Amino acid sequence: MRLIAVSKTKPAAAIREAYAAGQRDFGENYLQELVRKAEELGELADIRWHMIGHLQTNKAKLAARHASLVHSVDSPRVAEALARRRGEWVSAGMDLPAHLATPLRVLVEVNIAGEAQKAGCVPAALGEVLASIEREPWLALGGLMTVPPFTDEPDVARRCFERLRALRDAHGGPERLPELSMGMSDDLEAAIAAGATLVRVGTAIFGARSARTPTPLDPASG
Ligand SMILES: *Cc1c(COP(=O)(O)O)cnc(C)c1O
Repeated sequence: MRLIAVSKTKPAAAIREAYAAGQRDFGENYLQELVRKAEELGELADIRWHMIGHLQTNKAKLAARHASLVHSVDSPRVAEALARRRGEWVSAGMDLPAHLATPLRVLVEVNIAGEAQKAGCVPAALGEVLASIEREPWLALGGLMTVPPFTDEPDVARRCFERLRALRDAHGGPERLPELSMGMSDDLEAAIAAGATLVRVGTAIFGARSARTPTPLDPASG
């Protein structure tokens, strides 16, 4: 199991500190914030950036350039946009860093509970999204990701994780879908018990985030 330290809203100094303690995988929700930090921390050559937030197709180019794993592919359109951009980076030639000359690893985000306002494909659409990724030579299918409904009821998250695992088993099992990205600070144990291979932990590592303070990087603040 691999721990992804979710560093959204936290400064580069906090990331440097976690890096010095041995952490290499960091997750961000907003691509602009991910890119800014990746550039600011460019000297940390073996750091891995995870794009865990909703991805718009017009940001595919930046994701394909900076993310080592995109957790949030939820439609064939997003898959195609990422693949096209990754292919462009590679065929642009030049002095490409080694990590760009390989297919981009992606996970499919599944909206298990079918929440209307939430990103992720519904379970019924999963087969189609998986196939769209496997058609693309510049993408590598890594597995599935989910974010459970926001609630204090611990059973809701547990059932959600078990459903993601069941979906994985219904769509080829760990051979086709080795990674299950699930579990955050509050529901970590349930996710691990259900078979998580990647857990995304923010608050429990970096402390509380100030509640929805808009930053210049937040699309909500323009
Ligand atoms: C913010 C976030 C996390 C981390 O949440 P914590 O409760 O701070 O651990 C994990 N996954 C996603 C998709 C997030 O947006």
